[in-house]
Amino acid sequence: MKKVHNFNAGPCVLPKEAIESAIEAIRDFDNTGIGILEISHRTPGWERIMAETEQLWRELLNIPEDYAVIFLGGGASTQFFEVPANLLKTKAAYLQTGVWAKKAVKEAKFYGEVEVVASSEDKTYSYIPKGYTIPTDVDYFHITTNNTIYGTEIHEDIDSPVTLVADMSSDIMSRPVDVKKYGMIYGGAQKNVGPAGVTFVIVRRDLLGKVDRPIQTMVDYRTHYTDEAKNRSMFNTPPVFPIFVMHETLKWVKEQGGVEAMYKRNKEKAELLYNEIDRNPLFVGTAAKEDRSLMNVCFVMAPGKEALQDEFMAFAKERGMIGIKGHRSVGGFRASIYNACPLESVQALVACMQEFEQLHK
Ligand SMILES: *Cc1c(COP(=O)(O)O)cnc(C)c1O
Repeated sequence: MKKVHNFNAGPCVLPKEAIESAIEAIRDFDNTGIGILEISHRTPGWERIMAETEQLWRELLNIPEDYAVIFLGGGASTQFFEVPANLLKTKAAYLQTGVWAKKAVKEAKFYGEVEVVASSEDKTYSYIPKGYTIPTDVDYFHITTNNTIYGTEIHEDIDSPVTLVADMSSDIMSRPVDVKKYGMIYGGAQKNVGPAGVTFVIVRRDLLGKVDRPIQTMVDYRTHYTDEAKNRSMFNTPPVFPIFVMHETLKWVKEQGGVEAMYKRNKEKAELLYNEIDRNPLFVGTAAKEDRSLMNVCFVMAPGKEALQDEFMAFAKERGMIGIKGHRSVGGFRASIYNACPLESVQALVACMQEFEQLHK
């Protein structure tokens, strides 16, 4: 197979080990003689995988007992309305740090009043707003911890006087998180914890069942959390294969040393690439330095060098770089360097930028 470096924003690179066991499980799952795509989700071997997957989440993120951990379909975008359906009584506050956050605001408005406490839309979401006040008369405050399209990230677990809800689709498991500071954390798996097709929801159980409106059975988080561990997330047919690959991906995270080890590697990779962007006269970064994401690195050609953009894209492609085109709303380049992206890929991209600089001295 051709040597490539995968910088796709999501779905994206997964650990080789997870791919290998997925291939094997398609042939034969758990020595049953049939493949994972063909088993019943009531097979004991599968119930074990479900329970273990929840356990891996709890262990890796140190999730307290009073939080439910459930796996659903529909992607993070479905959570944009399931969150307010379950938690919004009268009013909620949102921090608008990108297009995903804006979409979450739009859906919350179906359920109640929404206050956007701050927005960075004025500068194409290139920074995280600071100095805003979180209102205390709201049911929750919603943030997007990593803004996949713009390459900005909230690097700490912020203190909130009200229930904190976070879309962590693109930085979950990339660093240690103090789960106790959040009422709820959710996201699509396809950036850091698995393939597309499964969504994770971590929610403190005492927050549920407090709204007056009737909630459709599938939308109500309580439907998916049962006392019996082996039946959790099994109200209907779960996305069996994506959950299996998530299980294998989390096993890999654990073997690598957990989220602390991921965080260390991620900082190292991001520093290497940002240093090159700052040093190389042909490129500039687009995100405010203090808010730069460790997951999505956005950059453009330096002023005066814009005409070289297509040439660099072709040059990088020639050298095996995949998925570095920036989102259409930002332009330029975006390298997504999630947990499973190896240091060698970042080194290869840096070398490619240096070679390109030599050509244009
Ligand atoms: C990708 C992404 C989404 C959308 O996820 P889907 O699973 O495609 O609905 C939402 N929020 C963030 C931060 C994302 O990166």
